[in-house]
Amino acid sequence: MQLLMSSLRGIINVPRRVRARLGAKWCVVLLLIPPTVFGSIHFGLRAAMVVALSVIGCILASVVPRIIAKKDYTFAHPGTIITGLLLGLTLSAETPIYMIVVGALVAQLPGKYKPRWLGRNPFNPAALGRTAVAVLEFTDPLTSAAWKNADAISGASALFKDAGGHLRPAIWTIFAGFNKGAIGETSEMMLLPVCILMLCFVVVKRQAAIAMIVTVPLLVISLPATSDIVGHAPWALNPLVYLLSSNTFLLATFFATDPMTTPRSRFGCVIFGVSVAVLGVLGRLYTTIPGMEMYAVLVGNMAVPVLDGTLWRKLFRRNRPQFAMADGSTVELPVPLDDSIAPGARFAVESFFATNGGEEPEIPDTGELVRLPSALCDEPFAVFRKVVADATPENVLQIIRESGLRGCGGARFPVHRKWEAVLAEENPRILVVNGQEGEPETFKDRFIMQNYARVAVEGMAILATVIEPEEIVFVVTSRCANAVRQIKAAVDELRATREGAALPPIRVVPGADLYVCGEETALIQSLEPRRAEPQLRPPYPFQSGLRGLPTLVQNVETVSWLPSIVQHGPEWFRGTGGGVQLVSLSGAVRNPGVYEVETGTTLDEILKMGGGLAQGEELRAIAVGGPSSGLLPPTNLGLPFEHSALQDAGAALGTGAVRVFAKSECIVAEALKAARFFRDESCGRCTPCRVGTSEIVRLWERAAETQNAGDELGMIGEVADVMRQASICGLGVAACNRVLSVVRHWPEVIQPHTADAEVERSQQCQV
Ligand code: SF4
Repeated sequence: MQLLMSSLRGIINVPRRVRARLGAKWCVVLLLIPPTVFGSIHFGLRAAMVVALSVIGCILASVVPRIIAKKDYTFAHPGTIITGLLLGLTLSAETPIYMIVVGALVAQLPGKYKPRWLGRNPFNPAALGRTAVAVLEFTDPLTSAAWKNADAISGASALFKDAGGHLRPAIWTIFAGFNKGAIGETSEMMLLPVCILMLCFVVVKRQAAIAMIVTVPLLVISLPATSDIVGHAPWALNPLVYLLSSNTFLLATFFATDPMTTPRSRFGCVIFGVSVAVLGVLGRLYTTIPGMEMYAVLVGNMAVPVLDGTLWRKLFRRNRPQFAMADGSTVELPVPLDDSIAPGARFAVESFFATNGGEEPEIPDTGELVRLPSALCDEPFAVFRKVVADATPENVLQIIRESGLRGCGGARFPVHRKWEAVLAEENPRILVVNGQEGEPETFKDRFIMQNYARVAVEGMAILATVIEPEEIVFVVTSRCANAVRQIKAAVDELRATREGAALPPIRVVPGADLYVCGEETALIQSLEPRRAEPQLRPPYPFQSGLRGLPTLVQNVETVSWLPSIVQHGPEWFRGTGGGVQLVSLSGAVRNPGVYEVETGTTLDEILKMGGGLAQGEELRAIAVGGPSSGLLPPTNLGLPFEHSALQDAGAALGTGAVRVFAKSECIVAEALKAARFFRDESCGRCTPCRVGTSEIVRLWERAAETQNAGDELGMIGEVADVMRQASICGLGVAACNRVLSVVRHWPEVIQPHTADAEVERSQQCQV
């Protein structure tokens, strides 16, 4: 039985692994192959030619303008191939060649055009291309007869009188697809498994597709049997025949799941799916216009701004998010960049320190950076100017690829892969440099922005030469007026150079400094401006980010490494290990501050960099990776500062924060502080996180009060499990780690917390 279960799990994991390896778009290309192959066998070689021509037409329409504009291009862009395949599959095998070419041009040019005010293409490109073909069919004397004689050009589906003859075709014939219709629409035998794989493993937005597939048969069955179904056979009102004979599965699977042209919210997606189904069914049955469902998709696309509330907001400027100031007043986001807001505004990190009646401490200035600013010289922005003069974007990309640089914002994703992903998307793109540091115990970005602002801005400029953004947004922490001033001054200095003046507009904006804004989609939401809530992916920010444009978000430390890596080469950065990163060292050490640490350096060595433990203190615990990471007991001091080793021990590299706890500090109270922080910082979007973070605080407080806390600790474990599995973003997934680590390593200190010396040591403890 166990073997059977594990084999089943293995089989189920195959599509997941394929998706993880190939990415969603290439998976969609793969899933479009079965209906293409079936259509080519059933309708013959000409059908294969129609699909191939459609794909080639889309690729050329995408590449040629870029070649003319001397921009980088790729022939094998999955988005373009998907558009070509979908267009081809919705055509008949008899479609004249010139119509296919026009359809491909319309799909790829106006179809992919992203108006600035909307930030995304308004219509599904393939649906728009298919509509252009339909207009030509209507106007061309050779094919216009089809519009009067119900779908003659595309081959009428089994629902039409003329196509089906006088007897209803057998269900299995319809299911197998051995009837007339468009190349990729006839065979549900092919489309059904494809639809299941798409909805279960590839796309995240499935509500519109499911709503459509469910609504179509329900609507058909509810229509009066005496309905005047223009040009259709009586069996058109059989819901099963209708579902299998119409193009519902193809449209639901591939058009209603398009992340760009369907609503963002689940509710909006359901309304979208139901509306498209209703318009499609009524349009098909009560008119003789072939393929009405396709036009219903376009109408649905038009309604998306209304369903998303974008239009409403634009017209009436209502519901703009507000930012709370310390004096109780509110201002609309984005907050104007003004030094005066820095000391007074309420920020996430302050809530962490305020839990115990304290304030966020000043950034220690005892750290030392040598390698990160090593490219600084008297000539301002020398590396950037050299890159502009001598290097191509591919040169810089190759250097970064070889250096192995990983993002320093917490996720540690290989930097070059993020760049490649956004480069694979079409312009216009946006670059966001994230310098809002919403995580307690982390201060390296503020350290850079205050002391090495020119390095960060030069890195931003180098990155801009690679991804060629239309706009650069530098998000600066709002609670550090000096960082704001320094970055603004460095940007002005950059603009004064000839090369810097040629860069696109650079906006320096204040960050909300929320912990959740460490998540890219939440940061983008806060900049739009909306409530800072993480969004479901896909679409990923590199596909649809700020204003719906492909957006690269990179942390301040990450961009700050670029000048020195480009100057000294990838080997210099890799050194003997896997590179260097900054560590924010704080807590019970003699010299807290920011230090450069080679990958593989042990925690003990990092402690020594900070001068060792503060005088008279003994080590109780060490926290690596901020409050979302577990506390480690002193026995872990030999661990290397490296992702997998720390993860195995229950901690994480995260943003590179290392906090040292002395014996005199109460770790039960520290864990409570982290739990309260995440309760306050949860954006509330998903129930497990919203409710779970509050429950964890309540249970932890009770556990510290009672003599027998077994029940509370057991429930904490259960709540943490649910949060880990069902939360949308990393906050909910990791919110309990500090609490759980205390349960794991120091169970004995929890219960005697109110009873003995543990608390006496820490009179200010508020557990
Ligand atoms: S996990 Fe928490 S912070 Fe993240 S989206 Fe859900 S509610 Fe918001």
